[in-house]
Amino acid sequence: MKSEINWGSVHRALVHWRKGLQSDNENRNKEPSVTTVAEYYSHDPWAILVSTILSLRTKDEVTLEASKRLLAKAPGPRELAALRVDHVARLAYPAGFYRTKAANLKKIAAILLEQYNGEVPADMDALLALPGVGRKTANLVLIEAFDLPGICVDVHVHRIANRYGWLSSKTPEETEMILREILPKKYWKGLNALLVLYGQNLCRPVSPYCSRCLIKQQCKQVGVERFR
Ligand code: SF4
Repeated sequence: MKSEINWGSVHRALVHWRKGLQSDNENRNKEPSVTTVAEYYSHDPWAILVSTILSLRTKDEVTLEASKRLLAKAPGPRELAALRVDHVARLAYPAGFYRTKAANLKKIAAILLEQYNGEVPADMDALLALPGVGRKTANLVLIEAFDLPGICVDVHVHRIANRYGWLSSKTPEETEMILREILPKKYWKGLNALLVLYGQNLCRPVSPYCSRCLIKQQCKQVGVERFR
């Protein structure tokens, strides 16, 4: 599928904007928490898998602290398998759905030990077969832990891609599949980090800051009824 979108110019504008954000305001969220955890734990696959699972429906600052707490006690699947599920849940608290996540992490640790010699598999289908792991999580693990191509589509990426008019889709999964067709591979990996920040700060869900937007020239503002 051919695309008329000038991806290079959109990418350059977003990177430029992020640099400004980082130098303007040290207290603002600079990177999504999973990216921060990935760097903190030197792109360790287990740490990234755990933090990505904890990050679902959870604020970035909570994810970061819960990940550090949990990974201090369970730096690998063997240590996590030895913990009681209520202990894992306490360490994960107050991440959203912390009890469900704790139960899933216990099951994942057991599967990794039984089937993958305690390693996280670098394979989309194997990751998707783990309890509680969806496409967003699997893509993030492949990108951050294994430096493999992937497109991590969350609510921010889904919203901005549709508003901008890059595509028209109903679900993040559909957005990911279309982006895989139209977006040059060199932009896949960094897309999530750029658009999550943009979505949190400018292209907000309700009343986006279109007057300050650096990529508004080509934006079709699909579905945007109010903006600032
Ligand atoms: S112009 Fe508005 S809707 Fe379009 S990307 Fe920018 S902030 Fe979002």
